[in-house]
Amino acid sequence: MSKLLVANWKMNPGSLAEAVKLAKAIDAKGVVICPPFPFLSEVKKYIKKAKLGAQNVFWENPAPGGAYTGEVSATMLKKIGAEYVILGHSERRVYLNETDEIINKKLMTSLATGLKPVLCIGEPRAVRGKGISAAKKYVAGQLKKDLRGVHVAPIIAYEPIWAIGTGKAEEPSAAAEMAGFIKSLLASAPYRLDTKVLYGGSVTSMNILRIISYRELDGALVGGASLKSQEFKKIIKLTK
Ligand code: PEP
Repeated sequence: MSKLLVANWKMNPGSLAEAVKLAKAIDAKGVVICPPFPFLSEVKKYIKKAKLGAQNVFWENPAPGGAYTGEVSATMLKKIGAEYVILGHSERRVYLNETDEIINKKLMTSLATGLKPVLCIGEPRAVRGKGISAAKKYVAGQLKKDLRGVHVAPIIAYEPIWAIGTGKAEEPSAAAEMAGFIKSLLASAPYRLDTKVLYGGSVTSMNILRIISYRELDGALVGGASLKSQEFKKIIKLTK
């Protein structure tokens, strides 16, 4: 089965020229490039094999638009060629106070508009410190709230918060165990969803092979390493 790589550029790079250069360098099949909003349209012009994704979307989506200062609608994203949207990233949960209820509304709107959501979930360090069972319980709690009323499967990105941007990835075997848990939970009632699960958190060219060797893991969400073209090209090559 082919694996998926989602490149989360976060609030990077610093200029449109750099964004275009990076997008051209990492344009490959099986890759979703998620630049900041101002770079989306221009990046779209230069990618031939990769897909385009956004890092956020608003939960309301009135036609043709609405009085929601600073927000971007799912329809706007679709119209400029975005196919994916990252939702529920822990950075947004922490810095923007995004709650599970907000994430659920964004998820519903994205699915209704035909955007493919990449829903990020994952436990903080204190929870993981209590063991993998505690982490599973935490993640199940997030899924229960984030997926309320959802009948179409989003892609799930399992991202333990303590592993994001720290250089300390979760053990691939533990990430695979969590992915298996998420898949079986979502395959059962009330969800009955057949879901892809990615791993995110300090993925590099050094650990990607072990991560994708597990059949439970359908790919990776890559932050920091997706901004370094040579490093990300290595990751792409190893994932093929
Ligand atoms: C992320 O942005 O979701 C992420 C996993 O970042 P990094 O790969 O830098 O840990």
